[in-house]
Amino acid sequence: MSLYEVDVERHDRVLEMTRDFVKKEIPPELVRETDRNDQYPLDLIKKLCAVGLMGVNVPEEFGGMGGDVIDVMLMYEEISKRMPVLSWAAGNITLYGNEILLVNGNREQQEKYLPKLLNGEMLFCLAITEPDAGSDAANIKTRAVLQNGTYLINGNKMFISGAGVSDITVTMTRTAESRYKGITSFLVDTKSEGYSAKSIKKLGYNGSDTCEVYYENVEVKADAIVGGEAGLNNGWNQMMNTLNSERLALSACALGIAQAAVDDILSFAKEHFKFGAILNQDIQHTIVEMATEVEAARQLAYYAARKETKGQECIKETSMSKYYTTETAKKVVATGLKILGEYGALEAVDMQRYLRDVLILSVGGGTTQIQKNIVAKTLGM
Ligand SMILES: Cc1cc2nc3c(=O)[nH]c(=O)nc-3n(C[C@H](O)[C@H](O)[C@H](O)COP(=O)(O)OP(=O)(O)OC[C@H]3O[C@@H](n4cnc5c(N)ncnc54)[C@H](O)[C@@H]3O)c2cc1C
Repeated sequence: MSLYEVDVERHDRVLEMTRDFVKKEIPPELVRETDRNDQYPLDLIKKLCAVGLMGVNVPEEFGGMGGDVIDVMLMYEEISKRMPVLSWAAGNITLYGNEILLVNGNREQQEKYLPKLLNGEMLFCLAITEPDAGSDAANIKTRAVLQNGTYLINGNKMFISGAGVSDITVTMTRTAESRYKGITSFLVDTKSEGYSAKSIKKLGYNGSDTCEVYYENVEVKADAIVGGEAGLNNGWNQMMNTLNSERLALSACALGIAQAAVDDILSFAKEHFKFGAILNQDIQHTIVEMATEVEAARQLAYYAARKETKGQECIKETSMSKYYTTETAKKVVATGLKILGEYGALEAVDMQRYLRDVLILSVGGGTTQIQKNIVAKTLGM
């Protein structure tokens, strides 16, 4: 049985297109250079748009490929094997643009923005997190206050991916006192007066343009509320509607990195250890365990994705998938480093970058502990 079960033909096409793209456009040295220079891979994003892959999850009526979350995952996993940060940056179109507009936007917003996202004219980012609202996202303090027909936004967001390069920041604000029913998301034009973004240096995923964002009396009209009038004070529910897709996309990123670690270590081991002549069973078994754990994690992730595509309840499975794939990737990459020995410390060897990236992957999009809290709830604890 296919791993993906449904729409196999389209899934195969997405896989093939992505593999071709990676082979043609992403030489390993470019990946290392992006990591060293901490530079957002805008050129590659535009090339992904040009081949149509950034419309992977957009219906054909808007010029997309009409794919589902499995297509997004296949693309993310394949790209992450070579260049994890490009998948993260692709989120500035596929997740924070396409997905948010398609699930929560109104027709006018979809028609206005989707074509520009697909052809690489625009990038979106999503600003939820604040200095005192990370895992506890409902604690946001950034306010939008209605004055003479215009909303004035004031506040500060943290760790926003792509905020320095994006054209629109989907900004979650407090518009009423109710913890969950007082949150509204706005499409904030980043050229607005009073908006600014400052890059933050971090351990891994270099090039993803993580920023601190400031809003000082940023003016937005009511038609910038995600979903229009119906979106007022409905931002929390809107976010919940897109979380499964984000967790699955990030699971695919983890799978890509973990698979790259297995592939790299296999090449290294075949050259370095003389299997057969002097059988080094300990190394062999360790690599078998790595490969098995990645495959088990992959099955869980795509099982959760199949449930999502069928419209079945799957919060438990997507949270299990996010935590298990990222923790598995961490474990596999750490083992890879151990097997590499001295080589693992070299900048030119990618395993150290995999480690830096996976450490961050288990934080962004909801930490492992938060995913476990969600699973615990679904198990009645
Ligand atoms: C690279 C990167 C990119 C990001 N991109 C974005 C973005 O684009 N947009 C955005 O809005 N945010 C973004 N984030 C923010 C991310 O969502 C938050 O970092 C994450 O939700 C955790 O919040 P925090 O960092 O404030 O940690 P905290 O919430 O302060 O947590 C600190 C530690 O305590 C643990 N903890 C907290 N509460 C509990 C609990 N109830 N039970 C058990 N353990 C708990 C956490 O698991 C963690 O280990 C990004 C983060 C990173 C690292």
